[in-house]
Amino acid sequence: MSGPGEYLPDPTEGITRPEDLPQPRVVRRSRNYKHYSCPRCHRRCWRNSVFTRILHDVGDLVSGRPRDIHLTYSQHYCTKCRKCFNADTTYYALPKAHYTHRVVSLAVRLVVEDGLPYQQASWHLWRDHRVFVPFATIQNWVEGGGKKSRRQNGKRVSGLGAR
Ligand SMILES: [Zn+2]
Repeated sequence: MSGPGEYLPDPTEGITRPEDLPQPRVVRRSRNYKHYSCPRCHRRCWRNSVFTRILHDVGDLVSGRPRDIHLTYSQHYCTKCRKCFNADTTYYALPKAHYTHRVVSLAVRLVVEDGLPYQQASWHLWRDHRVFVPFATIQNWVEGGGKKSRRQNGKRVSGLGAR
């Protein structure tokens, strides 16, 4: 709050319910194919059904709105292996994840490199990147990634700004 420039609080400061935050801008992406190779036997398989995943991405600071990717993907059935499988969406996110790779690596960096506590990292992600991530989710990413030990390595060189 010191230094040049007038201090203007974030317009969303004080909002406690995520549903009161600005509505996301929706971006559509597709991994929807008529045929797809079976990951086991590499046979080309017909599409069985189509699903949509919603992924929270880094938001848009110009409009101040979050950004959601509606990712459509096909599910296929291999008659030889007798198994269902999905078109690959790992370019955007890990299986079952609700956030893109970009958001996860940003969050983990805030904690591991900048040493922010989880709650502060969550606020920072919202304020500076317009993506809402509950702090417990960030904690799962950091601790699940086995990067906790790096955080305990003592003094860090980055984060020279006033904190
Ligand atoms: Zn197969």
